[in-house]
Amino acid sequence: MAYVNDNYLKLKAGYLFPEIGRRVSKFAKENPQAKVIRMGIGDVTEPLPAACISAMHAAVDEMARRESFRGYGPEQGFDFLREAIARHDFQSRGAQIQADEIFVSDGSKCDTGNILDILGKSNVIAVTDPVYPVYVDTNVMAGHTGEADAGGRYAGLVYLPMTEANQFVPALPEQKVDIVYLCSPNNPTGMAASRSALEKWVDYARKNEAIIFFDAAYEAFITEADVPHSIYEIEGARECAIEFRSFSKTAGFTGTRCAFTVVPKGLTARTSTGENVELHGLWNRRHTTKFNGVSYIVQRGAEAVYTPEGQSQVRQLVEFYLENARLMCAGLKQAGLTVYGGVNAPYVWLKTPNGLSSWDFFDQLLSKAHLVGTPGSGFGASGEGYFRLSAFNSRANVLEAIERVNKFVQG
Ligand SMILES: *Cc1c(COP(=O)(O)O)cnc(C)c1O
Repeated sequence: MAYVNDNYLKLKAGYLFPEIGRRVSKFAKENPQAKVIRMGIGDVTEPLPAACISAMHAAVDEMARRESFRGYGPEQGFDFLREAIARHDFQSRGAQIQADEIFVSDGSKCDTGNILDILGKSNVIAVTDPVYPVYVDTNVMAGHTGEADAGGRYAGLVYLPMTEANQFVPALPEQKVDIVYLCSPNNPTGMAASRSALEKWVDYARKNEAIIFFDAAYEAFITEADVPHSIYEIEGARECAIEFRSFSKTAGFTGTRCAFTVVPKGLTARTSTGENVELHGLWNRRHTTKFNGVSYIVQRGAEAVYTPEGQSQVRQLVEFYLENARLMCAGLKQAGLTVYGGVNAPYVWLKTPNGLSSWDFFDQLLSKAHLVGTPGSGFGASGEGYFRLSAFNSRANVLEAIERVNKFVQG
């Protein structure tokens, strides 16, 4: 008899996006003439930067010739990419991260889940509420939680609310936690942590010997000088933080797949017998055993992001989405809505009008404005009464959507 991992049965069965899909298909079937605009899922819409495309074409041609063909590469990533990342994303900002502390992978989603492999079972884990669901679900799968309550909160996790009341900056936990997930700029709220907020977290982590899992997938969207691009811009963070980065939102790699995780040397955690062990070595062991590297072609594409042409093309791409977000914020405010985010991130987090629940607002917006967003409550109990709109869309759709929201709110 084979047994399953019972922890999987605790999961709230992928409720959010399937439920959105179900409601949208039902509406579309009943209203075949309606032109539905989807601003729900956080996927990019614009093509890859030209520099990435030509680098990948060249790499494909290399693979076609015996002399330049490549088989397996280093599991941690090719040096050309790790060095470009270390120089451009960290050292240029005064963060002392070296190429051999960077582990190239096929996604931050996988990395944020896989990292739990090298950590113990008894850690007290804190997540924000609302939260990127991957952090929670991977802890459930790993057996780090009990059952979920009616509001979807799992026993054993520490939830740190992010609401209007704290301007979406989570307060330090009252109890001692061992691991905390921070995502800045944030998905879903679109808000970003200031330098002083991150300094408080690094200080907390060092005092409590906790580790911060810092997800900076939206780093490229930062526009304000006071918002750090990397946790390692904060003094002492090398001792207490692992950072997750991705080319997905920066350069439109959601379908191409390339990301990286930074595990600084000297960052340690405790064994059950009380010794300190470096996480760098453990992650290297995990990565080389369970992963065989990102495609050479894709890594050449990612490297091209750091060329002068690549940098300017990526800037243009990010600016395009940020302009969408600016237009959305301005348009929704004009409609009388209260909106957050959209300045350092491609997400706008609005307060539902008239105290509507997130799902009631979803239904009304769909039926009256033919517009799809994401109910805030799907990201956690504290997301109730909020709603996420994504700026990943064409300009025409964004302008049309703003007009429809205005009519909807006024009607
Ligand atoms: C999109 C996103 C990522 C990136 O995931 P990939 O697997 O690299 O595509 C990571 N974290 C958050 C919060 C995201 O929204």
